[in-house]
Amino acid sequence: MSDPVLADNFKNTPYWWERTPRPVIKDIELPKETEVAVIGSGYTGLCTAIQTSRNGLDTVVLDAQDAGWGGSSRNGGQVSTSLKPSFKELSRKYGEEPARELLKEGINALKWIGDFIQEEKIDCDFKRAGRFYGAHSQAQFKLLEKRIREQTAGLEMDVDLISKSQQHAEIGSNFYHGGIVHPYHASLDPARFHQGLLQRALTGGTQIKTKCAVKKIEKKGGFFLLHTDAGTMTARQVVVATSGYTGAATPWHRRRVIPIGSYIIATESLEEGLVDELIPKDRVISDTRKLVVYYRASPDRKRILFGGRVSLNETDPVKSVKPLHIQLTKIFPQLAETKISHSWMGFVGYTFDHMPHTGNQDGVHYAMGYCGSGVSLSSYFGTKLGQRISGLIQGDTVLTELQFQTRPFYSGNPWFLAPSILYYRLLDRYLR
Ligand SMILES: Cc1cc2nc3c(=O)[nH]c(=O)nc-3n(C[C@H](O)[C@H](O)[C@H](O)COP(=O)(O)OP(=O)(O)OC[C@H]3O[C@@H](n4cnc5c(N)ncnc54)[C@H](O)[C@@H]3O)c2cc1C
Repeated sequence: MSDPVLADNFKNTPYWWERTPRPVIKDIELPKETEVAVIGSGYTGLCTAIQTSRNGLDTVVLDAQDAGWGGSSRNGGQVSTSLKPSFKELSRKYGEEPARELLKEGINALKWIGDFIQEEKIDCDFKRAGRFYGAHSQAQFKLLEKRIREQTAGLEMDVDLISKSQQHAEIGSNFYHGGIVHPYHASLDPARFHQGLLQRALTGGTQIKTKCAVKKIEKKGGFFLLHTDAGTMTARQVVVATSGYTGAATPWHRRRVIPIGSYIIATESLEEGLVDELIPKDRVISDTRKLVVYYRASPDRKRILFGGRVSLNETDPVKSVKPLHIQLTKIFPQLAETKISHSWMGFVGYTFDHMPHTGNQDGVHYAMGYCGSGVSLSSYFGTKLGQRISGLIQGDTVLTELQFQTRPFYSGNPWFLAPSILYYRLLDRYLR
């Protein structure tokens, strides 16, 4: 390789796939009919399928690619409370009590995922090591301080304020002006988590057909006809679980999800002791900038995995190495000479109100749009959706009451992304 930043064995596929190669599933004939057809085999689709299969409903999961090919085997493996809007924003729109109930779902999801992984005995390096959230300016530090002081009644979380002088216990960097620690946030190996879900779905009786895109869904009286790459199948219930990969087969959902590419690099193995200096407590890390960066140590604590958005338009993950490496070394100058072994990207499903959405439109169930924080949310809302389809009261969630908004002239191509990213970039640079 000619680029000095790329390691000799550089790959433009997810680091996670080294340890968990893409699953090979026995090819099945497309069943003629099923009770539940799930489109998408990521965390959402599999968690829904685990519930419906275990509750005795014939379930077929279809994916256009390999199982878990979307965000679910490509993400950063950071687990948080996840809902983006503040209590103030949500109460302005929906009133105080509904706002509190909505935000509680994020807290519930964070607790639930740890319990679920333990109950299901999924071996995926799940660890509640906490998050360090760095302030990129003094003004942002003051805002974090205020946020801790003024936590909303009924939604209080354990949070520790970390001054700049205490910062080195959290991160081997002078980049931040202090920050906060969320001790309950967690990390996992996303592809191993997906593999665990896949095994549980298969064991529970779910049938999975990969490399089989759904092209069109037709409603026919009391059932649906799915037109796929492998022929047609009828289903009593259909679930759309395609999030950032939602396409033309489901135009109503496509008009409501904004696919945004997120890019990650993995360093080559670092010299012994360096990861302990950079991220001593094994926290996951992000910061107050509008253009998010997220990073962590690999589960074996040999590498740093660093993600963010570095280009206005979508780009090739080989091209994103350099700008991500520059951002990484601004935080950790110790890594200036370190090479990059993996670089990849995937599509995050954003929504216009920055909230995830789950519900039923014209008889078609859906859960999607986790806005970059879907590890806990997609599994949690996927599970709840499967419970609702199975007629279980545990599946109820206040999220089904939200309207899933679109915007005039939006049909799935986010033309407004580049100007928005430029705007955020300017805000980060000048409004500190
Ligand atoms: C680079 C990156 C980093 C991220 N980091 C984090 C993180 O650190 N923490 C966090 O909480 N979240 C993170 N996320 C978000 C998280 O990964 C997603 O929210 C979550 O995986 C969504 O799961 P899902 O099952 O809903 O969708 P996906 O896992 O994206 O699966 C959708 C599937 O639908 C399939 N599909 C689409 N159309 C069709 C069709 N017509 N027919 C059949 N199949 C179809 C696709 O092939 C795909 O496999 C990240 C996402 C990305 C891309």
